[in-house]
Amino acid sequence: MKKVYIEVMGCQMNKSDAERMYGMLEFLDYYQTDNPKEADLLIINTCSVRQLSEDKAYSAIGVWGKWKKNKPDLKIVFAGCVAQQAGENILKRAPYVDLVLGTQRVYELPELIKRIEAGERLVSVDEIPYEESDIKINRVKSVNAWIPIMEGCNNFCTYCIVPYTRGRERSRKSELIISEVKKALNEGFKEITLLGQNVDSYKGENEGENLSWLLRQINSIEGKFRIRFVTSYPTDITEELIDTVIELDKVCEYFHIPMQSGDDYTLKKMNRRYDYATYKKICDNIRSRIPDVTITSDFIAGFPGETEEQFENTLKAMTELELDYSNTAAYSPREKTVAAKWVDLYLPEDVKTERLARLNEHNRKCCLKSNQKYVGREMEVLIEKFEGVNESGVNDRGENIITGRTRNNKIVHIPYDKDITGEFVNVKITSARTWYLRGEMIK
Ligand code: SF4
Repeated sequence: MKKVYIEVMGCQMNKSDAERMYGMLEFLDYYQTDNPKEADLLIINTCSVRQLSEDKAYSAIGVWGKWKKNKPDLKIVFAGCVAQQAGENILKRAPYVDLVLGTQRVYELPELIKRIEAGERLVSVDEIPYEESDIKINRVKSVNAWIPIMEGCNNFCTYCIVPYTRGRERSRKSELIISEVKKALNEGFKEITLLGQNVDSYKGENEGENLSWLLRQINSIEGKFRIRFVTSYPTDITEELIDTVIELDKVCEYFHIPMQSGDDYTLKKMNRRYDYATYKKICDNIRSRIPDVTITSDFIAGFPGETEEQFENTLKAMTELELDYSNTAAYSPREKTVAAKWVDLYLPEDVKTERLARLNEHNRKCCLKSNQKYVGREMEVLIEKFEGVNESGVNDRGENIITGRTRNNKIVHIPYDKDITGEFVNVKITSARTWYLRGEMIK
């Protein structure tokens, strides 16, 4: 029996690709190991959103390359977004790499593995997607199954590498998605998250197959489970979609809508197709129609040329909209993107770091305020894990804790002595911390 280890970096899409790779490789008799040192096949699924993660990928394979000296049959695959971008250059830079696999060629993996086993060194980064088939997926044990429904992006925000690494938007066939959802539910998953760089742009093969249609199909599958979808481009959120979220009982009250900046000039320079007023209108509309909805966002600090005043508009926006949580990052130039060419406008590292710290401080305040709204309320929680105090190093809180999520994606810690992962329970929220709520089980 041969063993494969996959190191996954970056976003959920990469994690989902890795689950597919593990499933496909089982048919070649490769079984998953968590120990890279005992693997016969090592795969790194890389992320190129920031320079730091790209650097980490190269340093990881440098270590693997050294192992090859004592284990000449070891095969190394460099996959994901950095592979898609750098292609053949990776073989020159890292002569111990056997295969460079682009983001759109994942389903070609078994065929390519057979060829590298026969001694070839290959690059497959063609932008024409390799046709998907109904494959086995080895999902990470969890209550939530991530299911990609579309991939790629046509928006070309000036800072973003995604259109160059994941290609143009394309949606998966609805029958494959629905069959994957049913399989995940049969395996015991209790939550389905539909995934896409612009999930609202989903367009199935037939007329009328949009995200709302897909949510209806999935909602009609029998059984108790939850449905989520990420990530939404602000202006792609339609009234129909909001109506659908309100109407369907399994679809959760949660939207992730990246704003990136609260300043109109910066938004223009980012090539985002909305201004602050438009974003606010979308948020206000959702909040007025869906009680207790959670709206989360993404922000970049220190975009090229961003002035102090423009940055402060972002802080103001975050507070004014009472965003429930935001992912934040300092601007990192990415080769090929438009903004990366504005070298003269780059801000010094210390300015970016200082702005990021202030953004994070605002984020913390918004999160705490958002969490405090729920103290005293009763909420349904889907339990995701148990941390027993006796398992060494697992729990330093001094009590047994179960952790889960509410429908609106709030994390809740509940003192409880039994592992009931996967169960839905009713909980009374007793207190709010910055990043989570504490609650007690309702008898
Ligand atoms: S919409 Fe999102 S994925 Fe597409 S280019 Fe902009 S930031 Fe990147």
